[in-house]
Amino acid sequence: MSRLRGVAVLSLVLSCLAPVFAARAGDGTVDVVVRDVTVIDVVDGTRLPHRDLVIDGGRIVAIVATGAPRARKATATVDGRGRFAIPGLWDMHVHFGGGTALIEENRALLPLYVAHGITGVRDAAGDLSDSVLAWRDAVAEGRELGPRIFTSGPKIEGKDSIWPGDLEVENEAELDAALEGLVARKVDFIKITDNTLSPALFMAALQKVRDRGLVSSAHIPMAVSVADASAAGLGSIEHIAYAYKAGAPDEAALSRAFAAGTLDTRAVWEGAEATFTDDSARAAYRRLAANGTAVTPTLNGSRVVAYLDEDDHAGDDYLRYIGPGLQATYAWRVGRAAKDDAEAIARRHARFERQAAILPLLQAAGVRILAGTDAGFLNSFNYPGVGLHDELDLFVRYGLTPLQALQAATLNGARFLGHGDTHGTLAPGKAADVVLLRADPLTDVRAVRAIDTVILQGRVHDRAALDAMLEDVRIRVAAMPAVP
Ligand SMILES: [Zn+2]
Repeated sequence: MSRLRGVAVLSLVLSCLAPVFAARAGDGTVDVVVRDVTVIDVVDGTRLPHRDLVIDGGRIVAIVATGAPRARKATATVDGRGRFAIPGLWDMHVHFGGGTALIEENRALLPLYVAHGITGVRDAAGDLSDSVLAWRDAVAEGRELGPRIFTSGPKIEGKDSIWPGDLEVENEAELDAALEGLVARKVDFIKITDNTLSPALFMAALQKVRDRGLVSSAHIPMAVSVADASAAGLGSIEHIAYAYKAGAPDEAALSRAFAAGTLDTRAVWEGAEATFTDDSARAAYRRLAANGTAVTPTLNGSRVVAYLDEDDHAGDDYLRYIGPGLQATYAWRVGRAAKDDAEAIARRHARFERQAAILPLLQAAGVRILAGTDAGFLNSFNYPGVGLHDELDLFVRYGLTPLQALQAATLNGARFLGHGDTHGTLAPGKAADVVLLRADPLTDVRAVRAIDTVILQGRVHDRAALDAMLEDVRIRVAAMPAVP
Protein backbone atom coordinates (compact mmCIF):
# COMPACT_ATOMS: atom_id res chain seq x y z
CA MET A 1 0.00 0.00 0.00
CA SER A 2 1.44 3.36 -1.01
CA ARG A 3 1.71 6.13 1.53
CA LEU A 4 -0.84 8.20 -0.38
CA ARG A 5 -3.34 5.36 -0.40
CA GLY A 6 -2.72 4.89 3.31
CA VAL A 7 -3.58 8.54 3.98
CA ALA A 8 -6.70 8.45 1.82
CA VAL A 9 -7.93 5.22 3.37
CA LEU A 10 -7.22 6.48 6.87
CA SER A 11 -9.22 9.65 6.27
CA LEU A 12 -12.14 7.62 4.97
CA VAL A 13 -11.98 5.17 7.84
CA LEU A 14 -11.94 8.03 10.35
CA SER A 15 -14.89 9.76 8.72
CA CYS A 16 -16.83 6.47 8.68
CA LEU A 17 -16.12 5.80 12.33
CA ALA A 18 -17.58 9.12 13.46
CA PRO A 19 -21.01 8.36 14.88
CA VAL A 20 -23.95 9.40 12.73
CA PHE A 21 -25.91 10.52 15.74
CA ALA A 22 -23.41 12.04 18.10
CA ALA A 23 -24.08 11.67 21.80
CA ARG A 24 -25.52 14.84 23.32
CA ALA A 25 -23.03 16.72 25.45
CA GLY A 26 -25.85 17.76 27.76
CA ASP A 27 -24.86 21.44 27.84
CA GLY A 28 -26.71 22.47 24.70
CA THR A 29 -23.72 21.82 22.47
CA VAL A 30 -24.82 20.81 18.99
CA ASP A 31 -22.93 18.73 16.45
CA VAL A 32 -22.34 21.35 13.75
CA VAL A 33 -23.00 25.02 13.08
CA VAL A 34 -22.40 26.46 9.62
CA ARG A 35 -21.84 30.12 10.41
CA ASP A 36 -22.82 33.08 8.25
CA VAL A 37 -23.88 31.24 5.12
CA THR A 38 -26.36 32.29 2.42
CA VAL A 39 -29.17 29.72 2.52
CA ILE A 40 -30.91 29.07 -0.81
CA ASP A 41 -34.63 28.38 -0.49
CA VAL A 42 -35.21 26.03 -3.43
CA VAL A 43 -39.00 26.32 -3.10
CA ASP A 44 -39.20 29.99 -4.10
CA GLY A 45 -35.65 30.91 -5.04
CA THR A 46 -35.01 33.38 -2.25
CA ARG A 47 -31.54 33.89 -0.84
CA LEU A 48 -31.30 34.16 2.94
CA PRO A 49 -27.93 35.81 3.69
CA HIS A 50 -26.12 35.76 7.04
CA ARG A 51 -27.71 32.64 8.45
CA ASP A 52 -26.38 30.07 10.89
CA LEU A 53 -27.37 26.53 9.99
CA VAL A 54 -27.61 24.48 13.19
CA ILE A 55 -27.26 20.71 12.83
CA ASP A 56 -27.66 18.05 15.49
CA GLY A 57 -28.38 14.34 15.46
CA GLY A 58 -28.17 14.19 11.67
CA ARG A 59 -30.90 16.82 11.24
CA ILE A 60 -31.16 20.56 10.72
CA VAL A 61 -32.50 21.85 14.05
CA ALA A 62 -32.52 25.59 13.33
CA ILE A 63 -31.73 28.22 10.71
CA VAL A 64 -31.23 31.55 12.46
CA ALA A 65 -29.71 34.97 11.86
CA THR A 66 -25.94 34.84 12.33
CA GLY A 67 -25.06 35.43 15.97
CA ALA A 68 -28.54 34.70 17.32
CA PRO A 69 -28.71 32.81 20.65
CA ARG A 70 -29.79 29.52 19.05
CA ALA A 71 -26.45 29.30 17.25
CA ARG A 72 -24.64 28.19 20.34
CA LYS A 73 -21.71 25.97 21.08
CA ALA A 74 -20.96 23.35 18.48
CA THR A 75 -18.64 20.38 18.31
CA ALA A 76 -17.71 21.51 14.80
CA THR A 77 -18.00 24.92 13.19
CA VAL A 78 -17.96 25.49 9.44
CA ASP A 79 -17.19 28.95 8.07
CA GLY A 80 -20.02 29.69 5.67
CA ARG A 81 -18.91 33.19 4.63
CA GLY A 82 -19.12 33.59 0.86
CA ARG A 83 -20.80 30.19 0.57
CA PHE A 84 -24.27 29.23 -0.65
CA ALA A 85 -26.07 26.35 1.07
CA ILE A 86 -28.35 24.10 -1.00
CA PRO A 87 -29.98 20.77 -0.16
CA GLY A 88 -27.92 17.73 -1.17
CA LEU A 89 -28.50 16.85 -4.83
CA TRP A 90 -30.41 13.72 -5.82
CA ASP A 91 -29.66 11.90 -9.09
CA MET A 92 -33.06 10.40 -9.86
CA HIS A 93 -31.93 7.86 -12.45
CA VAL A 94 -28.77 5.83 -11.98
CA HIS A 95 -27.84 2.19 -12.48
CA PHE A 96 -25.60 -0.29 -10.72
CA GLY A 97 -24.78 -3.36 -12.79
CA GLY A 98 -22.59 -5.18 -15.26
CA GLY A 99 -22.41 -8.56 -13.54
CA THR A 100 -21.13 -9.81 -10.20
CA ALA A 101 -17.52 -9.35 -11.32
CA LEU A 102 -18.19 -5.59 -11.20
CA ILE A 103 -19.62 -5.37 -7.66
CA GLU A 104 -16.54 -3.55 -6.31
CA GLU A 105 -16.42 -1.20 -9.32
CA ASN A 106 -20.05 -0.28 -8.69
CA ARG A 107 -19.44 0.12 -4.98
CA ALA A 108 -16.63 2.58 -5.72
CA LEU A 109 -19.24 4.84 -7.37
CA LEU A 110 -20.83 5.56 -3.98
CA PRO A 111 -18.14 7.97 -2.68
CA LEU A 112 -17.84 9.38 -6.22
CA TYR A 113 -21.45 10.55 -5.95
CA VAL A 114 -20.88 12.08 -2.52
CA ALA A 115 -17.77 13.95 -3.70
CA HIS A 116 -19.98 15.64 -6.33
CA GLY A 117 -22.59 16.83 -3.85
CA ILE A 118 -25.01 13.99 -4.55
CA THR A 119 -26.56 12.81 -1.30
CA GLY A 120 -29.33 10.67 -2.84
CA VAL A 121 -29.62 8.39 -5.86
CA ARG A 122 -32.61 6.58 -7.32
CA ASP A 123 -31.40 3.25 -8.73
CA ALA A 124 -33.54 2.39 -11.76
CA ALA A 125 -32.64 -1.32 -11.80
CA GLY A 126 -29.75 -3.45 -12.97
CA ASP A 127 -28.36 -6.89 -12.28
CA LEU A 128 -26.83 -6.25 -8.84
CA SER A 129 -29.98 -5.79 -6.79
CA ASP A 130 -28.78 -7.87 -3.82
CA SER A 131 -25.71 -5.63 -3.50
CA VAL A 132 -27.69 -2.42 -4.01
CA LEU A 133 -30.23 -3.37 -1.33
CA ALA A 134 -27.37 -4.18 1.07
CA TRP A 135 -25.66 -0.85 0.28
CA ARG A 136 -28.95 0.98 0.82
CA ASP A 137 -29.13 -0.35 4.37
CA ALA A 138 -25.40 0.10 5.04
CA VAL A 139 -25.52 3.76 3.96
CA ALA A 140 -28.67 4.42 6.01
CA GLU A 141 -27.00 2.94 9.08
CA GLY A 142 -23.74 4.86 8.56
CA ARG A 143 -21.68 1.74 7.79
CA GLU A 144 -20.93 2.74 4.19
CA LEU A 145 -20.00 6.16 2.80
CA GLY A 146 -22.46 6.89 0.02
CA PRO A 147 -25.58 8.73 -1.04
CA ARG A 148 -28.94 7.55 0.29
CA ILE A 149 -30.10 4.88 -2.11
CA PHE A 150 -33.67 4.50 -3.31
CA THR A 151 -33.97 1.39 -5.45
CA SER A 152 -36.52 -0.41 -7.58
CA GLY A 153 -34.69 -3.70 -7.07
CA PRO A 154 -34.99 -5.83 -10.23
CA LYS A 155 -37.42 -4.46 -12.79
CA ILE A 156 -40.50 -6.05 -14.35
CA GLU A 157 -40.11 -7.34 -17.91
CA GLY A 158 -41.36 -10.05 -20.28
CA LYS A 159 -39.66 -13.36 -21.02
CA ASP A 160 -36.14 -13.31 -22.49
CA SER A 161 -35.68 -9.55 -22.08
CA ILE A 162 -32.35 -8.18 -23.34
CA TRP A 163 -31.71 -6.56 -19.96
CA PRO A 164 -29.88 -8.63 -17.35
CA GLY A 165 -31.35 -9.17 -13.89
CA ASP A 166 -35.04 -8.60 -14.71
CA LEU A 167 -38.07 -10.26 -13.12
CA GLU A 168 -39.58 -11.82 -16.24
CA VAL A 169 -43.36 -12.31 -16.24
CA GLU A 170 -45.70 -13.83 -18.83
CA ASN A 171 -49.06 -13.66 -17.09
CA GLU A 172 -50.87 -11.91 -14.24
CA ALA A 173 -50.08 -14.63 -11.71
CA GLU A 174 -46.36 -14.23 -12.36
CA LEU A 175 -46.76 -10.46 -12.23
CA ASP A 176 -48.49 -10.69 -8.83
CA ALA A 177 -45.75 -12.96 -7.52
CA ALA A 178 -43.06 -10.59 -8.79
CA LEU A 179 -44.70 -7.59 -7.11
CA GLU A 180 -45.14 -9.60 -3.89
CA GLY A 181 -41.42 -10.35 -3.89
CA LEU A 182 -40.48 -6.71 -4.48
CA VAL A 183 -42.74 -5.55 -1.64
CA ALA A 184 -41.10 -8.12 0.64
CA ARG A 185 -37.72 -6.62 -0.23
CA LYS A 186 -39.02 -3.16 0.66
CA VAL A 187 -38.10 -1.58 -2.66
CA ASP A 188 -38.65 2.17 -2.98
CA PHE A 189 -40.55 2.08 -6.30
CA ILE A 190 -41.38 -0.33 -9.13
CA LYS A 191 -39.56 -0.09 -12.47
CA ILE A 192 -41.25 -1.54 -15.55
CA THR A 193 -39.71 -1.72 -19.04
CA ASP A 194 -40.98 -2.78 -22.41
CA ASN A 195 -38.41 -4.95 -24.17
CA THR A 196 -40.53 -8.10 -24.22
CA LEU A 197 -43.34 -7.29 -21.77
CA SER A 198 -46.75 -7.46 -23.47
CA PRO A 199 -48.68 -4.17 -23.63
CA ALA A 200 -51.58 -5.78 -21.74
CA LEU A 201 -49.32 -6.92 -18.89
CA PHE A 202 -47.66 -3.49 -18.87
CA MET A 203 -51.03 -1.82 -18.27
CA ALA A 204 -51.93 -4.46 -15.67
CA ALA A 205 -48.64 -3.77 -13.89
CA LEU A 206 -49.38 -0.02 -13.70
CA GLN A 207 -52.79 -0.75 -12.15
CA LYS A 208 -51.47 -3.28 -9.66
CA VAL A 209 -48.64 -1.00 -8.57
CA ARG A 210 -51.06 1.84 -7.99
CA ASP A 211 -53.54 -0.43 -6.20
CA ARG A 212 -50.76 -1.40 -3.76
CA GLY A 213 -50.02 2.24 -3.05
CA LEU A 214 -46.59 2.03 -4.70
CA VAL A 215 -44.98 4.31 -7.27
CA SER A 216 -44.15 3.13 -10.79
CA SER A 217 -41.50 4.25 -13.23
CA ALA A 218 -41.36 3.02 -16.81
CA HIS A 219 -40.29 2.74 -20.40
CA ILE A 220 -43.60 2.67 -22.27
CA PRO A 221 -44.40 0.06 -24.94
CA MET A 222 -44.81 1.63 -28.39
CA ALA A 223 -48.26 0.02 -28.67
CA VAL A 224 -49.46 1.89 -25.57
CA SER A 225 -50.10 5.62 -25.68
CA VAL A 226 -48.22 7.59 -23.05
CA ALA A 227 -51.51 9.33 -22.30
CA ASP A 228 -53.13 5.97 -21.41
CA ALA A 229 -50.13 4.94 -19.27
CA SER A 230 -50.33 8.25 -17.39
CA ALA A 231 -54.10 7.91 -16.90
CA ALA A 232 -53.49 4.41 -15.48
CA GLY A 233 -51.32 5.92 -12.77
CA LEU A 234 -47.77 5.84 -14.15
CA GLY A 235 -45.50 7.57 -11.62
CA SER A 236 -42.62 8.64 -13.81
CA ILE A 237 -41.76 8.50 -17.49
CA GLU A 238 -38.08 7.63 -17.88
CA HIS A 239 -36.38 9.40 -20.81
CA ILE A 240 -37.69 12.41 -22.67
CA ALA A 241 -38.44 10.55 -25.92
CA TYR A 242 -41.69 9.15 -24.51
CA ALA A 243 -42.78 12.61 -23.40
CA TYR A 244 -42.04 13.83 -26.91
CA LYS A 245 -44.26 11.09 -28.38
CA ALA A 246 -47.00 12.08 -25.94
CA GLY A 247 -46.93 15.59 -27.40
CA ALA A 248 -47.93 14.44 -30.90
CA PRO A 249 -51.61 15.23 -31.58
CA ASP A 250 -52.21 11.74 -33.00
CA GLU A 251 -50.26 9.80 -30.39
CA ALA A 252 -53.15 7.40 -29.74
CA ALA A 253 -53.53 6.65 -33.46
CA LEU A 254 -49.77 6.10 -33.87
CA SER A 255 -49.78 3.67 -30.93
CA ARG A 256 -52.79 1.80 -32.31
CA ALA A 257 -51.13 1.53 -35.75
CA PHE A 258 -48.02 0.09 -34.12
CA ALA A 259 -50.14 -2.41 -32.18
CA ALA A 260 -51.90 -3.41 -35.43
CA GLY A 261 -48.56 -3.87 -37.19
CA THR A 262 -49.17 -1.17 -39.81
CA LEU A 263 -46.38 1.12 -38.51
CA ASP A 264 -42.94 0.08 -37.23
CA THR A 265 -40.95 1.88 -34.52
CA ARG A 266 -39.19 4.17 -36.96
CA ALA A 267 -42.46 5.12 -38.65
CA VAL A 268 -44.05 5.94 -35.28
CA TRP A 269 -41.20 8.33 -34.40
CA GLU A 270 -41.31 9.94 -37.84
CA GLY A 271 -45.07 10.28 -37.56
CA ALA A 272 -44.76 11.95 -34.17
CA GLU A 273 -42.09 14.32 -35.51
CA ALA A 274 -44.18 15.21 -38.57
CA THR A 275 -47.21 16.19 -36.52
CA PHE A 276 -45.84 17.46 -33.17
CA THR A 277 -46.84 21.01 -32.32
CA ASP A 278 -46.21 23.03 -29.18
CA ASP A 279 -49.97 23.45 -28.73
CA SER A 280 -50.74 19.74 -28.91
CA ALA A 281 -47.85 19.10 -26.52
CA ARG A 282 -49.04 21.70 -24.02
CA ALA A 283 -52.46 20.06 -23.83
CA ALA A 284 -50.93 16.59 -23.43
CA TYR A 285 -48.49 17.76 -20.76
CA ARG A 286 -51.24 19.41 -18.74
CA ARG A 287 -52.89 15.98 -18.60
CA LEU A 288 -49.62 14.37 -17.45
CA ALA A 289 -49.38 17.02 -14.72
CA ALA A 290 -53.01 16.49 -13.66
CA ASN A 291 -52.39 12.74 -13.41
CA GLY A 292 -49.27 13.36 -11.32
CA THR A 293 -46.96 11.70 -13.84
CA ALA A 294 -43.38 12.98 -13.58
CA VAL A 295 -40.74 13.00 -16.33
CA THR A 296 -37.06 12.12 -15.92
CA PRO A 297 -35.55 13.48 -19.17
CA THR A 298 -32.05 11.88 -18.83
CA LEU A 299 -30.74 14.35 -21.41
CA ASN A 300 -27.06 13.81 -20.65
CA GLY A 301 -26.99 10.18 -21.71
CA SER A 302 -28.89 10.96 -24.91
CA ARG A 303 -26.63 13.91 -25.70
CA VAL A 304 -23.40 11.96 -25.24
CA VAL A 305 -24.52 9.20 -27.61
CA ALA A 306 -26.11 11.60 -30.14
CA TYR A 307 -22.87 13.55 -30.43
CA LEU A 308 -20.28 10.74 -30.27
CA ASP A 309 -19.17 11.79 -33.76
CA GLU A 310 -18.06 15.15 -32.33
CA ASP A 311 -16.58 13.88 -29.05
CA ASP A 312 -15.51 10.26 -28.57
CA HIS A 313 -14.62 10.94 -24.90
CA ALA A 314 -11.52 8.74 -25.17
CA GLY A 315 -9.42 11.40 -23.45
CA ASP A 316 -11.79 12.29 -20.60
CA ASP A 317 -9.87 12.79 -17.33
CA TYR A 318 -12.92 11.52 -15.45
CA LEU A 319 -12.32 7.99 -16.75
CA ARG A 320 -9.76 7.66 -13.94
CA TYR A 321 -12.72 7.25 -11.56
CA ILE A 322 -14.51 4.59 -13.64
CA GLY A 323 -13.44 0.96 -13.35
CA PRO A 324 -12.21 -0.95 -16.41
CA GLY A 325 -15.16 -3.35 -16.36
CA LEU A 326 -17.70 -0.51 -16.35
CA GLN A 327 -15.75 1.23 -19.12
CA ALA A 328 -15.93 -2.01 -21.14
CA THR A 329 -19.76 -1.91 -20.94
CA TYR A 330 -19.63 1.47 -22.74
CA ALA A 331 -18.62 -0.32 -25.97
CA TRP A 332 -22.19 -1.48 -26.67
CA ARG A 333 -23.68 1.95 -27.39
CA VAL A 334 -20.44 3.23 -28.94
CA GLY A 335 -20.47 0.27 -31.34
CA ARG A 336 -24.10 0.88 -32.32
CA ALA A 337 -23.49 4.60 -32.94
CA ALA A 338 -20.39 3.81 -35.04
CA LYS A 339 -22.59 2.02 -37.59
CA ASP A 340 -24.47 5.24 -38.40
CA ASP A 341 -23.77 6.95 -41.72
CA ALA A 342 -23.82 10.73 -42.18
CA GLU A 343 -27.57 10.80 -42.64
CA ALA A 344 -28.21 8.73 -39.50
CA ILE A 345 -25.83 10.96 -37.51
CA ALA A 346 -27.67 14.08 -38.68
CA ARG A 347 -30.96 12.41 -37.73
CA ARG A 348 -29.81 11.55 -34.21
CA HIS A 349 -28.54 15.12 -33.67
CA ALA A 350 -31.86 16.55 -34.86
CA ARG A 351 -33.84 14.10 -32.74
CA PHE A 352 -31.91 15.02 -29.59
CA GLU A 353 -32.38 18.76 -30.21
CA ARG A 354 -36.08 18.36 -30.97
CA GLN A 355 -36.73 16.29 -27.86
CA ALA A 356 -34.68 18.44 -25.48
CA ALA A 357 -36.60 21.50 -26.68
CA ILE A 358 -39.82 20.26 -25.01
CA LEU A 359 -38.34 20.78 -21.54
CA PRO A 360 -39.86 24.26 -20.97
CA LEU A 361 -43.23 23.02 -22.27
CA LEU A 362 -43.24 20.28 -19.63
CA GLN A 363 -42.23 22.75 -16.94
CA ALA A 364 -44.85 25.32 -17.95
CA ALA A 365 -47.57 22.65 -17.96
CA GLY A 366 -46.72 21.83 -14.34
CA VAL A 367 -45.13 18.44 -14.96
CA ARG A 368 -42.74 17.44 -12.18
CA ILE A 369 -39.31 17.16 -13.81
CA LEU A 370 -36.79 14.87 -12.14
CA ALA A 371 -33.06 15.36 -12.72
CA GLY A 372 -31.55 11.97 -13.47
CA THR A 373 -28.55 10.99 -15.55
CA ASP A 374 -28.97 7.30 -16.46
CA ALA A 375 -25.33 6.99 -15.35
CA GLY A 376 -23.86 3.59 -14.59
CA PHE A 377 -23.08 0.54 -16.69
CA LEU A 378 -23.85 0.50 -20.45
CA ASN A 379 -24.52 4.23 -20.72
CA SER A 380 -21.34 5.43 -22.35
CA PHE A 381 -19.41 8.37 -20.83
CA ASN A 382 -22.49 9.49 -18.89
CA TYR A 383 -20.54 9.69 -15.68
CA PRO A 384 -21.77 8.91 -12.18
CA GLY A 385 -21.26 12.12 -10.19
CA VAL A 386 -20.36 14.89 -12.61
CA GLY A 387 -23.05 13.65 -15.02
CA LEU A 388 -25.71 15.25 -12.80
CA HIS A 389 -23.92 18.61 -13.04
CA ASP A 390 -23.95 18.14 -16.83
CA GLU A 391 -27.68 17.31 -16.70
CA LEU A 392 -28.44 20.55 -14.85
CA ASP A 393 -26.40 22.53 -17.41
CA LEU A 394 -28.51 20.96 -20.15
CA PHE A 395 -31.74 21.77 -18.31
CA VAL A 396 -30.76 25.44 -18.35
CA ARG A 397 -29.42 25.34 -21.91
CA TYR A 398 -32.78 23.99 -23.11
CA GLY A 399 -34.94 26.50 -21.29
CA LEU A 400 -35.32 25.96 -17.55
CA THR A 401 -34.22 28.60 -15.06
CA PRO A 402 -31.38 27.73 -12.68
CA LEU A 403 -33.97 27.52 -9.88
CA GLN A 404 -36.14 25.07 -11.83
CA ALA A 405 -33.06 22.96 -12.56
CA LEU A 406 -32.12 22.95 -8.86
CA GLN A 407 -35.69 21.99 -7.91
CA ALA A 408 -35.49 19.04 -10.30
CA ALA A 409 -32.40 17.82 -8.44
CA THR A 410 -33.66 18.45 -4.89
CA LEU A 411 -37.28 18.83 -3.81
CA ASN A 412 -38.93 17.27 -6.88
CA GLY A 413 -37.20 13.94 -6.26
CA ALA A 414 -37.86 13.98 -2.54
CA ARG A 415 -41.56 14.68 -3.10
CA PHE A 416 -41.81 12.09 -5.88
CA LEU A 417 -40.45 9.38 -3.59
CA GLY A 418 -42.65 10.46 -0.67
CA HIS A 419 -39.79 11.93 1.36
CA GLY A 420 -40.66 15.60 0.99
CA ASP A 421 -41.20 15.92 4.74
CA THR A 422 -37.59 14.95 5.53
CA HIS A 423 -35.60 15.86 2.41
CA GLY A 424 -35.39 18.23 -0.53
CA THR A 425 -35.18 21.60 1.22
CA LEU A 426 -33.18 23.23 4.00
CA ALA A 427 -35.47 23.69 7.00
CA PRO A 428 -35.62 22.69 10.66
CA GLY A 429 -36.49 19.00 10.97
CA LYS A 430 -35.05 18.09 7.57
CA ALA A 431 -32.11 15.73 7.12
CA ALA A 432 -28.74 17.43 7.40
CA ASP A 433 -27.74 16.69 3.81
CA VAL A 434 -26.32 20.03 2.70
CA VAL A 435 -23.92 21.21 0.00
CA LEU A 436 -21.98 24.45 0.42
CA LEU A 437 -21.09 26.09 -2.90
CA ARG A 438 -18.50 28.77 -3.63
CA ALA A 439 -20.81 30.54 -6.10
CA ASP A 440 -24.50 31.36 -6.38
CA PRO A 441 -26.40 28.56 -8.18
CA LEU A 442 -29.43 30.79 -8.80
CA THR A 443 -27.27 33.07 -10.95
CA ASP A 444 -25.49 30.26 -12.79
CA VAL A 445 -26.34 26.61 -12.23
CA ARG A 446 -22.72 25.67 -12.99
CA ALA A 447 -22.10 26.75 -9.39
CA VAL A 448 -23.06 23.19 -8.37
CA ARG A 449 -19.57 22.22 -9.58
CA ALA A 450 -17.91 24.65 -7.14
CA ILE A 451 -18.34 22.44 -4.09
CA ASP A 452 -16.73 23.65 -0.87
CA THR A 453 -18.25 21.21 1.62
CA VAL A 454 -20.70 18.31 1.65
CA ILE A 455 -22.60 17.60 4.85
CA LEU A 456 -24.04 14.09 4.66
CA GLN A 457 -26.26 12.74 7.47
CA GLY A 458 -24.88 15.56 9.59
CA ARG A 459 -21.25 14.65 8.97
CA VAL A 460 -18.98 17.33 7.50
CA HIS A 461 -16.73 16.57 4.52
CA ASP A 462 -14.70 19.68 3.67
CA ARG A 463 -12.93 20.24 0.36
CA ALA A 464 -9.80 18.44 1.53
CA ALA A 465 -11.88 15.43 2.62
CA LEU A 466 -13.75 15.43 -0.71
CA ASP A 467 -10.44 15.53 -2.60
CA ALA A 468 -9.18 12.63 -0.47
CA MET A 469 -12.40 10.76 -1.29
CA LEU A 470 -11.80 11.28 -5.02
CA GLU A 471 -8.16 10.24 -4.71
CA ASP A 472 -9.21 7.11 -2.87
CA VAL A 473 -11.65 6.24 -5.67
CA ARG A 474 -8.91 6.82 -8.26
CA ILE A 475 -6.53 4.51 -6.39
CA ARG A 476 -9.17 1.81 -5.93
CA VAL A 477 -10.02 1.96 -9.63
CA ALA A 478 -6.35 1.88 -10.70
CA ALA A 479 -5.89 -1.32 -8.69
CA MET A 480 -8.84 -3.09 -10.32
CA PRO A 481 -8.13 -5.94 -12.78
CA ALA A 482 -7.97 -4.78 -16.42
CA VAL A 483 -11.15 -6.45 -17.72
CA PRO A 484 -12.68 -9.19 -15.56
ZN1 LIG B 1 -31.85 3.84 -17.20
